[in-house]
Amino acid sequence: MKIIMLGAPGAGKGTQAKKIAAQYGIPHISTGDIFRANIKEQTALGMEAKSYMDKGQLVPDELTVKILLDRVAKDDCKNGYVLDGYPRTIPQAEVLDKAVSELNEAIDFAINVDVPDENIIHRMSGRRACLNCGATYHIEALPPKQADICDSCGSPLVIRDDDKPDTVKQRLKVYHEQTQPLIDYYQKKGILKEVDGTLDADKVFDTIKKILEA
Ligand code: ADP
Ligand code: AMP
Repeated sequence: MKIIMLGAPGAGKGTQAKKIAAQYGIPHISTGDIFRANIKEQTALGMEAKSYMDKGQLVPDELTVKILLDRVAKDDCKNGYVLDGYPRTIPQAEVLDKAVSELNEAIDFAINVDVPDENIIHRMSGRRACLNCGATYHIEALPPKQADICDSCGSPLVIRDDDKPDTVKQRLKVYHEQTQPLIDYYQKKGILKEVDGTLDADKVFDTIKKILEA
């Protein structure tokens, strides 16, 4: 099963993608997580990506596409994957389509997690991230058991550099300009599914399971 998660930054794509990955035994692939791991390791790719991420801009397609294609070519992707944060532009979607169709395969579902802009700033300002294992929390809606410590691996939780309110506003602008058109793109392909992302995370996941198992 090949699944794409669509939605604004902070809509809950990562939260749901992790649940899908655990439930169906497929890898969760987040281009944002790959960039953050590279920033942590101070690789050349990480340093270049950071210069865009900190400004709330997209990392250029030339860099992003290669990373994604290398990742989905790995053995653990043979039975599918859930993509979180890719594609973010129409050219990225076209590259993915080409790669998948060359294998005589297809993307099965594009799930749009719909959350209005007014909820997003609150979500992002309360987000806490584990840069060690990629787990994500919210100080009110999905708090860790112990404040600022990751439940999964015990590492300290951080506020992401790009979750500052001004950067979030820029990311939302970029989302509406460059990423939202993908909703129409996948609608035309007949694989778009809409879910209400304002419900609590378990309810959102119940809806997604019904879609995937219909
Ligand atoms: P994205 O991957 O789309 O950027 P995340 O999954 O990281 O979004 O979620 C953004 C923030 O909102 C996190 O702090 C997360 O814990 C919280 N969150 C995710 N889903 C929900 C939900 N259904 N209700 C309330 N908060 C949520
Ligand atoms: P995310 O973790 O998905 O919220 O992504 C964090 C940031 O990484 C984004 O704001 C972008 O700067 C960058 N990024 C992640 N995925 C992509 C992508 N597919 N295309 C371009 N930039 C991306």
